[in-house]
Amino acid sequence: MRTARTLYRDAALADARSDRLQHGLSVLVEDGAIRWIRPSDDEADPGPAESLEIVDASGATIVPGMVDAHSHVTLPGGAHWIDRIDDSPEVLLDVAERNGRLLTAAGVRWARDVGAPRVADPVDGRIRALSLGVRERWAARAGTPHLRVAGTWLDRAGTLPPAAHTVESHDADELLANALVQLDEGADLLKLYLDGPDAAVSPWAADEIGPVVAAAHARGIKVTAHSGRLNGAIEGVRGGVDAIEHGFELDEAVAGEMAARGTFLISTLAVMRSWASFGSTTTLPRFASDEGRGRIAERRARAEESLRIAHRPGVRIAAGTDFGGGSLRANQLAWEVEALVGAGLEPWEALAATTWRGGELLGEPAAGSIEEGGPADFFLVHGDPLSDPAVLWRVWRVAWAD
Ligand SMILES: [Zn+2]
Repeated sequence: MRTARTLYRDAALADARSDRLQHGLSVLVEDGAIRWIRPSDDEADPGPAESLEIVDASGATIVPGMVDAHSHVTLPGGAHWIDRIDDSPEVLLDVAERNGRLLTAAGVRWARDVGAPRVADPVDGRIRALSLGVRERWAARAGTPHLRVAGTWLDRAGTLPPAAHTVESHDADELLANALVQLDEGADLLKLYLDGPDAAVSPWAADEIGPVVAAAHARGIKVTAHSGRLNGAIEGVRGGVDAIEHGFELDEAVAGEMAARGTFLISTLAVMRSWASFGSTTTLPRFASDEGRGRIAERRARAEESLRIAHRPGVRIAAGTDFGGGSLRANQLAWEVEALVGAGLEPWEALAATTWRGGELLGEPAAGSIEEGGPADFFLVHGDPLSDPAVLWRVWRVAWAD
């Protein structure tokens, strides 16, 4: 039997555990796993030359395969991202395939899908979140992204448009019942939508969220909460959710409680940068008008401040693009790393947010890590991402898809 071995020789390594770039390393990959990592001037025996590929990786940097901690794999993004949720399931499954290729080419190994329309899947015929079938089919195909999916959005009736195909609830009993249905349908985590039809009030209070969290935790499932506003973050954190998505309006009190409880913040700051770019590339008034530009700039400043408020007491930060459920595209996680650095994180902390912190969030220790014996889930870029996040756009090779 032919053994697939690849020796990446004389590369730098950025593991995002510190701000220190390591130089002159060789990595032997065998059958998709990292056999060893050694100094290039003191390599171990890579085995017979036959069936060994030696890659001169000099000048490149090895980076752990990234985790997009907030994504929507069945949706395309763009300036009309909300309209696209109502595209036919056939079209959305094609979108997912294209997104899978974009993720891989961008160095993203894992995607945490936090919401897909609940519709009939044209492949398996089941009515459930479309991402669940994609997850199962990708799991059987080598080289596709690893997915963990939340099913659909659990929102309060009247919050999101019917065309988004969410699961709505009118009261706390119905919310709990709907959450259990999501679990029965195969969700890996639950996603509560804590922006409500009334912007001034969280749609659910902590004592209504608590039973959902308890039911999920009893099955070993985590619960996360979309929170664009402060009121939802406060109730969600008190209700015991495991993570706050976006967290665009946090304050010191809720950040302190998140740090104490170990609640994650999943940042999606690049969304506002994307909207600002639409001020130039579209004529849509919400982006291109003076008023629209001003509102976006204001929200961006508040969201970046919120990120700093969370970072100060040590809230664990993982990061995502929100591609599909927002306006970014599937191959733009580097934009979020740039946004985190722009907001004040050190480049290594921002890279950690898209690598091993995402692994922590998922409860997948190998995700976003590079270790002997672990999967060969790394990619190579040109430049030092520990000093300049923009080098993450310069992907040269993706080890797990070579
Ligand atoms: Zn989203």
